[in-house]
Amino acid sequence: MYNPNLEQLPLKEMRALQNARISALVDRLYHTVPFYKKQFDEHGLNPGDIKGVEDLPLLPFTKKSDLRDYYPYGMFAKPMEEVRRIHASSGTTGKPTVVGYTQNDLEVFDEVVARSLVCAGAKKGMKLHNAYGYGLFTGGLGMHGGATKLGMAVIPVSGGMTERQLTILQDFAPEVICCTPSYAQTLADECERRGIDTKDLAVKYAILGAEPWTEAIRQQVEAGLNVTATNIYGLSEIIGPGVSQEDFEEKGTGSYVWEDHFFPEVVDRDTGKPLPYGEEGVLVFTTLTKEAFPLLRYWTNDICSIYYDANAKRTHIKMSGIKGRSDDMLIIRGVNLFHTQVEEVIQELDFLSPNYRLIVDRKGTMDTVEVEVEVAKGVAVDRVDLQRDCIEKIKNTIGLSMAVKLKAPGSIPRSQGGKLSRIIDNRK
Ligand code: ADP
Repeated sequence: MYNPNLEQLPLKEMRALQNARISALVDRLYHTVPFYKKQFDEHGLNPGDIKGVEDLPLLPFTKKSDLRDYYPYGMFAKPMEEVRRIHASSGTTGKPTVVGYTQNDLEVFDEVVARSLVCAGAKKGMKLHNAYGYGLFTGGLGMHGGATKLGMAVIPVSGGMTERQLTILQDFAPEVICCTPSYAQTLADECERRGIDTKDLAVKYAILGAEPWTEAIRQQVEAGLNVTATNIYGLSEIIGPGVSQEDFEEKGTGSYVWEDHFFPEVVDRDTGKPLPYGEEGVLVFTTLTKEAFPLLRYWTNDICSIYYDANAKRTHIKMSGIKGRSDDMLIIRGVNLFHTQVEEVIQELDFLSPNYRLIVDRKGTMDTVEVEVEVAKGVAVDRVDLQRDCIEKIKNTIGLSMAVKLKAPGSIPRSQGGKLSRIIDNRK
């Protein structure tokens, strides 16, 4: 049964639970996974040196490249006879990473997704329109299992085929939908284009994740689909979706990290030193309960901050929205740039819509960025004054000069269901 009491553990009890879990895990990993034995030995560490989560900084990081070196099953900590499912990352940034789950891991997965669904506003008895891809990607099956556990009726639509998605939204009357934020934008646009009155739809909550997004997109999706939209975060290496989730009544204050299962740290991108709560750096996770594919200090590459929120409904730590992945951070003329920074500027200009992409190029030795952005409905694309306002606002806020091209509504390619890349880098 889904147990909400675990979300109210006082910090002291949470640490005691985490410490007991980490020391048992470290001991097991040292004896079952050659990679970890090597890491400990090379750093002159014994498993007994890690008595609790505060000792984690003694350990080196586990990186995506380590997982590739042990591809496909070298990092598994249980024999294949105990593995019940295998997933793989989408491989957005190279060869896929293969992950495995025991029966117990699948139950943990269901539990954290069920918690996340409740956090997003879903309830037992509601229907979930699951537009995350089913297959090797953890999104589809992950949300499916958690919703089943909560007692929802799952509609396993999977990604793509927008026409069919709209029919299901209209006829099957789901109260909750989950998909990528960019695909929610596509669905909102299509509703408008076809004259579907979203007030007639049953859908009330949208759970959006798998790619970075900001308040600009939240506003567009909430208005366009007539829903309350919250953020879900996760990665296949840690479990899949449901590592963290934003509460529908605490929007904009960050997402709860289910820290009884996944212990987060935020560290400096260059030095690897742990940063104080509230400071932005690379998110690092240690799984506390995983059996088949546990990870110690996994370097996610995702940039955010973590903090406790004294006014929150639950006791778990929160993380801010992801600004971007440190591997898709652009360095433009020496300045670090995430596309979400441009998205935030766009949000403040009401003559623009949050449909945009960045075209990066190199002229001689000079990096250039052009922002292609659709104007809001009813605004002419040849308004040089508005174009100039946008250029100035970007320059003043981000500190970089970028060209801006105003585009007609509907002219920038839309998400077809999966993760959308908002950057076209012609330098590669
Ligand atoms: P891949 O690394 O191949 O994309 P995954 O499907 O496991 O594999 O994707 C996990 C990554 O997706 C995360 O590390 C993060 O970069 C991104 N991601 C997932 N959820 C969110 C979210 N809510 N906000 C921002 N980024 C997210």
